[in-house]
Amino acid sequence: MNRQEIISCLKQTEPAELKKLWDSADRVRAENVGQAVHLRGLVEFSNICGRKCRYCGINAANTKVRRYQMSKAEILDSAQTARKLGYGTVVLQSGENRKLDVYFLAETIKEIKQTIGLAVTLSLGQWDREVYQLWKHAGADRFLLRFETGDDELYRRLHPDSKTGVAERFDALRLLKELGYEVGSGVMIGLPGQSYQSLADDLLKFKQLELDMIGAGPYIKHQDTQLGKDIEKFLLDAKEQVPATEEMTYKVIALARLLCPQANIPATTALATLNPKQGREQGLCCGANIVMPNVTPVKYRQMYEIYPAKACIAESAETCNACMLKRIESIGRYVGSGRGDSPGFLNRAQMGVGL
Ligand code: SAH
Repeated sequence: MNRQEIISCLKQTEPAELKKLWDSADRVRAENVGQAVHLRGLVEFSNICGRKCRYCGINAANTKVRRYQMSKAEILDSAQTARKLGYGTVVLQSGENRKLDVYFLAETIKEIKQTIGLAVTLSLGQWDREVYQLWKHAGADRFLLRFETGDDELYRRLHPDSKTGVAERFDALRLLKELGYEVGSGVMIGLPGQSYQSLADDLLKFKQLELDMIGAGPYIKHQDTQLGKDIEKFLLDAKEQVPATEEMTYKVIALARLLCPQANIPATTALATLNPKQGREQGLCCGANIVMPNVTPVKYRQMYEIYPAKACIAESAETCNACMLKRIESIGRYVGSGRGDSPGFLNRAQMGVGL
């Protein structure tokens, strides 16, 4: 698929054509990663952040946020919950906190690996090689770092503290791969200022980066952010501006699946926020094969408000799990067992590339 074909798909409105897109993505998903839906337990262990990303509700400039950091015991407890519920992976996510005790996190990773036995995914932003390496040696398996948008000018406007623009993300992703991590990235869909051309280029970039995991969810406006306040200044003409809609999200999931057949692709919480009833199921039916239920203690969830009205914010991990199982069964799929690594990564690992 070339850039022009991707743009046409992104602009497609004919129901019959869209149905073809969903069906072919669903078929490619079934052929490459099968019927299993893997569950990843998400632990939002701290909202402390030093960056000023214009879209994100927990960015350093938002003084309304009460900041927290979970203790090691609390993180281990959440990981234990994930294991009890049968998940193969725990995802440790936080703001980008320069003052984070990187050894504390290494110890925590080690303990999760040794005593709980789950795959560990990190989602903590940009760090130096030594730090990524420390966590890898501690046992971390995967790293998620979205590049958010590959349009360098827009990236710089959205990340005022970035020195090198989006190259900082591509450099970090290359480094993570070199260190042997299973690597994920992705973008937000419908960011104010995002054009169809740039989103098509982002999709091609997923392929070029040979990503093992691709996370793409709709941008959701947060009123206490610079972008939330200045949205009009960022928006392009209606013809050019990608809308932050549910349908656009399905298109991106489907195209990501066609371009990267073996990647693990989640139906994201942001998508479920736009459509709490059916968003996840529909995402799973047009290319996605992963869901990330939240296992963060409920008392912290309100404080991890990267965007407002996040889906399932008050549900306990157990309730979330029961609901998720029903949803997965309702579409004729089943919950995967084991770690659920991407087949592409396993092939690379077998050949010793990047390890
Ligand atoms: N600090 C980590 C984790 C960030 S939260 C990091 O920098 O990687 C994970 C993702 O949430 C971000 O990568 C971003 O794509 C998404 N996100 C942030 N604000 C959002 C918003 N307002 N709407 C939708 N998604 C958002």
